[in-house]
Amino acid sequence: MDAHNSICPLCHRPFNHGATRCQGCLNRIVYGATPQELAEAWRSGMTVGALGGIFVTGLIPQLLNDLFGWAIPIGLGLGFGSLILVLVIGVMSGYYARWAKAEAMRDRIRVFDQP
Ligand SMILES: [Zn+2]
Repeated sequence: MDAHNSICPLCHRPFNHGATRCQGCLNRIVYGATPQELAEAWRSGMTVGALGGIFVTGLIPQLLNDLFGWAIPIGLGLGFGSLILVLVIGVMSGYYARWAKAEAMRDRIRVFDQP
């Protein structure tokens, strides 16, 4: 196993995989996505999912009704349940976005010049 498998991009000193601080510049080494990046992905995914849910349960029935004279109830006839559906779609989308961010950043090793 390679003892020095990464180089600090800030001070160019090698560090062992798993180290949490560079021994050269003492900056923080981060493996994969940061908690802030995951939280941001979660918020974005949740927002997009909830807007998509509102679109599907509220705007599309209205559009189809207007275009074709149909009578699809707003909220797909679920009443209050349509709000729960919007929430569920939002949460699923948030989980997916968070997972996708974690996967995308999985093999990234970064050094942040902050404590
Ligand atoms: Zn360093």
